[in-house]
Amino acid sequence: MAAPMLTVGEALARVLGEVRPLPTVERPLEKALGLRLAVDVWADADQPPFDKALMDGYAVRASDLAELPRRLLLGETIAAGGLPSRPLGPGEAAVIMTGAPLPPGADAVVMVEKTARDGDGVAIRPQPIKPGMNLMPRGGIYRGGARLMTGGVDLTPARLGLLAAVGATAIRVYDVPKVAIVPTGDELVDFHETPGPGQIRNSNAPMLAALTAGKGAEPWVSPILVDEPDALRAGLAEALKRDLVLAVGGVSAGQWDLVPETLRSLGVRQVFHKIRIRPGKPLWFGVGPDRDDDRPPALVFGLPGNPLSGLVNFLYFAAPALDAMQGRPATGPAFVPARAARRFNRNATLNVFQAARVVEPREASRPAAVEPLENRGSSDLAAIVDADGFVEVPSGDGAIEPGEIVGFLPLG
Ligand code: AMP
Ligand code: MG
Repeated sequence: MAAPMLTVGEALARVLGEVRPLPTVERPLEKALGLRLAVDVWADADQPPFDKALMDGYAVRASDLAELPRRLLLGETIAAGGLPSRPLGPGEAAVIMTGAPLPPGADAVVMVEKTARDGDGVAIRPQPIKPGMNLMPRGGIYRGGARLMTGGVDLTPARLGLLAAVGATAIRVYDVPKVAIVPTGDELVDFHETPGPGQIRNSNAPMLAALTAGKGAEPWVSPILVDEPDALRAGLAEALKRDLVLAVGGVSAGQWDLVPETLRSLGVRQVFHKIRIRPGKPLWFGVGPDRDDDRPPALVFGLPGNPLSGLVNFLYFAAPALDAMQGRPATGPAFVPARAARRFNRNATLNVFQAARVVEPREASRPAAVEPLENRGSSDLAAIVDADGFVEVPSGDGAIEPGEIVGFLPLG
């Protein structure tokens, strides 16, 4: 007897249980946006590396300015990028620009707006004066040797800026997963072509390639494979050189659904086939044979050909797997809470992923309200182009009533 069909939660646990993180690689800083940092980052030097003026104005000794107004004698002018030539003497002020190093002896900067130039001197107008004002002392941002980032964070523009500030020109990150997208089916033609009688365009490959790129992975789209053992075998063998395979079509119960047996014949170990989900019930999942390089075996998804099935299976299973391969926490799909604006019908045995639209945005602590978008089955992409995501309707009796909180999986 066949094993009982897994629930989505059980299936997700099996998938995540098979994920091993990809090796880490060095990337030039300019190519590291969005990648996951694999090591800690330390400051190479004090920041700022010298006592630095934060305003255009005059470097002064605060002790000279206990009583105001006061006239100080003008010394040298120090520009950003320049260096003071000598210490600041008592009763003296140096003209200084934002970003320039303070001369030894100076302990405050007076803004130019609060002064009046007067021949070889400058009058400091009455104002509160405190040592340390308008300057950043050496090491005031961070000290050389301080830990600035911990491995495991995603590289945002701000983090890339900080890496540049410490001279980290090559950065160790988790490698980008290579994802093979393998369309199968005698009826498919490339989407650039006009389908003949009985044919349809391969719409899944560009959709899955876009989903893949959206997860920071690198899609490779295989030529379309016909439903014939030798062609499938050759094409899938090529795909297994990647880190993750999305074979599309041919995993159901039809006479030409040859993908699972072909994968098994290539040494792919089946983990499960068919799960309690709609759309996407025929999903097949397995793990490829060991590879010659240092990369873990390919994770292999056999997605049903219907576009909504592939979309939901990708969001629920492949997306979290791609996260975990890149060293991100394996937390599963990124659900957010939402309120049902209308009734959502349940299925007795399957978790239904119901395309839904946000009808009221999230507000402070109040979750967004969502309503179901009707569709005519799992091939109806047209019905869901206005969807903001999917509501997971757990299996069971009855329905989810308006006002109840649901799990919402955003598409954007
Ligand atoms: P299958 O999973 O092979 O039984 O296919 C299920 C349905 O999805 C059939 O109507 C196929 O024609 C359609 N289909 C399969 N692959 C694709 C694809 N790459 N793009 C669009 N539709 C597809
Ligand atoms: Mg097919």
